[in-house]
Amino acid sequence: MAAGTVNDLVVYAGRLRADAWSRDLRPAWLLIRDGRFAEIAPGADRPGDWPADLPHLDLGRAVVLPGLLDSHVHLTEPGDGTEPADRSVAENVELGVANARTALRAGVTTVADCGGPPEAVLAVRARTAALPDCARALVATAPITKVGGHSWRYGGEVRDAADLRALVGRYAASGVDFVKAMASGGGTPGAPPWEPGFDEDVLHAAVEAAASHGLPLKVHCLSAGSMRAAVTAGVVLVEHGKFRNAAEDGRGFDPAVADLLARSGAVVCPTLSVGHHVLSVPSGVSGEAGALWGRRHPHDLDDFRRLVESGVSMVSGTDAGWRFTPFDALPGELRMMAGAGMTNRQALAAATTDAATALGKGDLIGRIAPGYLADFVASGADPVDDLSALDRLVAVARDGHVLR
Ligand SMILES: [Zn+2]
Repeated sequence: MAAGTVNDLVVYAGRLRADAWSRDLRPAWLLIRDGRFAEIAPGADRPGDWPADLPHLDLGRAVVLPGLLDSHVHLTEPGDGTEPADRSVAENVELGVANARTALRAGVTTVADCGGPPEAVLAVRARTAALPDCARALVATAPITKVGGHSWRYGGEVRDAADLRALVGRYAASGVDFVKAMASGGGTPGAPPWEPGFDEDVLHAAVEAAASHGLPLKVHCLSAGSMRAAVTAGVVLVEHGKFRNAAEDGRGFDPAVADLLARSGAVVCPTLSVGHHVLSVPSGVSGEAGALWGRRHPHDLDDFRRLVESGVSMVSGTDAGWRFTPFDALPGELRMMAGAGMTNRQALAAATTDAATALGKGDLIGRIAPGYLADFVASGADPVDDLSALDRLVAVARDGHVLR
């Protein structure tokens, strides 16, 4: 490459896919200045008035598309199935940086960290911002949960709405990118998925508190009741969107809740990767817990399909770090979403424009357009034709830094 500052660059894209909805993929030249797309020039010829001394990346016939967003990860969890460990802050930071590196290699230029120990998570965001081989992190720090509720170990327990408002205020002051709260139990001992987390009035306080600080609010919901309470309270971003019941017999789906989600305009992040990876790791979960996931995952996929058929909007997130979910799982997540009712184009939008919009970053990431951060990936084929093209990327760039 020629001289120039590291994130000034000229890119030739043989086929530019500016977003999931582009129809005609044509050649284009991308001028990147200071880590952002400055100009997009259609055509095969390099604009004559662009500076001649900038580094140059020729991507030949490759399809160049926006970097992907994983809307749900846990950077400070290992994704190897081990139980939560008492790691030091420094160990968690190293783990988080390594995980962000894995994500970027898979074309994931931005991750939304949906819960971890606050000090470590904020340090991972700062470290990865300065490391061009890592995905960018948007963070919530500790999810807000009832006393003894799901993920209480991260330190986000509150007793009531007043307590919650105070905690959201402290989070906002610490510079979080969004707020995460728990409307149901989950994988935490003593707080099973079908048990409620917060009541509707506390959820409503969370909606108001997050909005008052201009922060998106993501709410963990693993049961029909938790989704009804959350959406009724004004929640828009629903994590997991599962219909778990105590029997785990697949009969938890509630069409009225699906209808409520669709009518309210709620956006579900289905995290289908969790069950998939629990079941596909040879050394995975055995015994009764393994049998439980064996029953659970097929009805999770069925329920997802019914939500899509009901018209519910989706963004893609993997829950990487949790259980056995790796940080390069997003392309597989998109294939599962497409295999269970979405089109490839919708799945790609769920990982780009739609994910960015949900996080309040729709004017900054998720699209290749002037003014946007210069995040892109290149593949030999168009993912809209074949999502497995995302497994064979020929280039990944974040903020105009090219990884390969
Ligand atoms: Zn999670």
